[in-house]
Amino acid sequence: MESRGAPEPADVLADVAQRLGASLDLTQTLDEVARAVVERLGFGVAALNLVTDEGDLEVAAIAGPQEIRAELLGRRQSAADWTDLLAASEPRGRLRFLDGRKGGEDPSHLYFFVPDIPVSDDVLAWHPLDALFAPLYGGDGALLGVLSVDLPHDGLRPDSGDRDLLEVFAIQAALAIDHARLYADLQRSMDDQKRIQAELRHRALHDALTGLANRELLLDRLDQALARSRRDGWGIAVVFLDVDHFKLVNDSLGHGVGDELLITLARLLTHHLREVDTAGRLGGDEFVLVLEELSGPAEAIAVAERLMEAVKAPLLVGGEQVRISLSVGLAMATTTSTSSELLAEADAAMYRAKATGRARWEVFDSEMRSEALAQLDLRRELSSAVAAEQFRLHYQPIVDLVTGQPLGFEALLRWEHPTRGLLAPAAFLDVLEDSDTDSPVAEWVLERACSDAATWLGGLFVTVNVSPRQLARPELARRVADVLARTGLPAERLWVEITENRPVDAHQDIADVQRLRDLGVHVALDDFGTGYAGLTYLQRLPADTVKIDRVFVQGVVGDRVSRGIVSAVVGLATALDLQVVAEGVETVDQAHALAELGVSLAQGYLWAKPAPLPGSGLPVTRRLSVLSEDLAGELRRLVASLAMSSDRGQVARLAVQTARRSLGADAGLLLLLTEHGSAVLAHGEGYSARLLKEFEEVPVESLWPICATLRDGTPVFHQQAQLRVDAHTQVRTAADKITGLACVPAAADGVLLGALGMTWTGPVEFADALRGHLLSIGELVGQRLAQLLY
Ligand code: C2E
Ligand code: CA
Ligand code: CA
Repeated sequence: MESRGAPEPADVLADVAQRLGASLDLTQTLDEVARAVVERLGFGVAALNLVTDEGDLEVAAIAGPQEIRAELLGRRQSAADWTDLLAASEPRGRLRFLDGRKGGEDPSHLYFFVPDIPVSDDVLAWHPLDALFAPLYGGDGALLGVLSVDLPHDGLRPDSGDRDLLEVFAIQAALAIDHARLYADLQRSMDDQKRIQAELRHRALHDALTGLANRELLLDRLDQALARSRRDGWGIAVVFLDVDHFKLVNDSLGHGVGDELLITLARLLTHHLREVDTAGRLGGDEFVLVLEELSGPAEAIAVAERLMEAVKAPLLVGGEQVRISLSVGLAMATTTSTSSELLAEADAAMYRAKATGRARWEVFDSEMRSEALAQLDLRRELSSAVAAEQFRLHYQPIVDLVTGQPLGFEALLRWEHPTRGLLAPAAFLDVLEDSDTDSPVAEWVLERACSDAATWLGGLFVTVNVSPRQLARPELARRVADVLARTGLPAERLWVEITENRPVDAHQDIADVQRLRDLGVHVALDDFGTGYAGLTYLQRLPADTVKIDRVFVQGVVGDRVSRGIVSAVVGLATALDLQVVAEGVETVDQAHALAELGVSLAQGYLWAKPAPLPGSGLPVTRRLSVLSEDLAGELRRLVASLAMSSDRGQVARLAVQTARRSLGADAGLLLLLTEHGSAVLAHGEGYSARLLKEFEEVPVESLWPICATLRDGTPVFHQQAQLRVDAHTQVRTAADKITGLACVPAAADGVLLGALGMTWTGPVEFADALRGHLLSIGELVGQRLAQLLY
């Protein structure tokens, strides 16, 4: 989506700001505003209507063809007529658009410019009766005038990019007009040189948007405050405030609303401060307070809390209710503090507040100081870690939620630190992404994950996490293509996970993501729901999959909001033809709830924790089926098949295969008791030949601890059948990788017939549903065996 006139919006605005700022003369400023619309914003005509002292609106400047200027300049209309005109038009953000095709309420008694252009059938084309208005508000919120534009150079109605540009332009223009008027007033009413200089000086030391102190003034005030406090002993605090997710406000509601929000916030800050305190804005959404004459840190914290509380109520900005929160960092001055040190410390504390959840405050302390030093160490160590081959990838399966089958694996970075052991990304990712080592590590991850996938993962896919910074690198797509070619991994088996936990430029993202998708790579939007990406972002971003964040997954049982969010994401994803992966599933109940809500893929400790790829094959996952209907169906099928099995070998095979498949065990066996008190292997699969040999004949005592509870020396199987996870020592040493062996009785009428054993490698916790399922299989098999035996 390009704006009219092609150059980057930022360039246009910078240029316009320079031009508007260059003049303090009102007439000149007005002309400059109108000219900028025609020269830089791509319209043929711009009329600037100013509110006069009498309350009418008068055309004060015109840019466009000479005849139009002659016709319009100086024309007046009453404020009431303007109100009608604006009412007949529709809001477009903070602009109003008069839709010439709609007709609607007849504005013909009102005057506005109607160019002599043909009416086109194309609904996107500009209609002669179309008009676009930008109301101009002064710094005090009063209406200064209305800028109306017409005759777009491209003949099209404005798109959202054009409108954003005009919105921001209108704010700049209003400020410039305000300034020029102020200057004119000053000139008129005051002694002609000192006051102007004071005003100019004020401007040089204050932030133009909010009127707060700028960095220079703030540091100056802080220096003075420090000097005073050394004399009088009062405490000083520097408070760093940052609006959480400010970018989201800007992106979703437009820069105009963003600017207004900052102005509102500045007022609110000033309102809450004492006479001795100073409020400043460093730029963007970063505000700094210098608090003086404090008795201690508690007083500064109280101020921070008051401010955080004050912004909790929704702020009315640009006609929209906006809810924001602040992350706040505080630094208390010591006798040796310098102003820039204090500022940096408060900044660091603010970052801590952001990193630990936002909407909170942190005080800079000695711990942070040592942490800052530790970060420096980390940065140094990281820079040699790739060459020293200290990075590892762990893999966590992404499974089909219904069958429990792994479909792919997420590659998760680990750092084998020489002294601190294996580190998870949380310990180093921030430092890494902020350093030059970021790229080499990302390259390594990509290369390693693709080659692992090509070698080990059969037909399954591998997912790689890409940081926003990596995503923004134009050469990413080319590098991915290289790696795919080199490793032989088909593009569709690579997923790239983009996290939305940092502000990203939506337009830029779309281009970056599209380049990857053009290669055939699958794109997943990670941590969905926690970060900047709203549902609208999802609609715009060309992704294939969304990964619902763990927070909502873990709340899906019990928390209505989480459930609602999951269900909304599933609904939208279905509409947009996207897959949904639920992350961080830890319990069977969560899995059930997710399946009910229509989630199809999942990932989490329930199936497997991330683990290194063993040299010989897949990381093991617990392939469990979580749907009870499925289990019931499985049992019905088993009954039917058992009825058709006429010998013990067939029954044994069926028992083991059914149990393995439906429980996702890696291996399974059925042992049958012999008359002389031992057990023999009736069927076994998935175990090594060596282990199966050991099971050919097993003294029955060695089975008891595994599969039975002993009462008076007698195994009690049927009544108190238990699934024992802890394997008998003998069995455990015999197996290569058994971490869980479970047995159930195959018995009828209380007579013990044998034991059905399943083995899972990897962590196994048994949910009641699974325990019950295994017992049911055992019983059905036992019944059939009994029928065959007697
Ligand atoms: P992520 O992409 O959201 O990855 C999932 C994280 O959740 C992993 O943490 C995983 O171990 C953890 N997890 C998985 N299942 C469960 C569960 O059932 N319960 C709980 N409590 N946690 C679960 P990990 O490995 O510590 O990674 C943390 C984050 O670091 C990742 O979050 C990802 O954003 C980032 N990361 C990991 N590897 C890379 C990488 O190679 N490059 C980049 N840029 N970021 C990476
Ligand atoms: Ca991820
Ligand atoms: Ca995630």
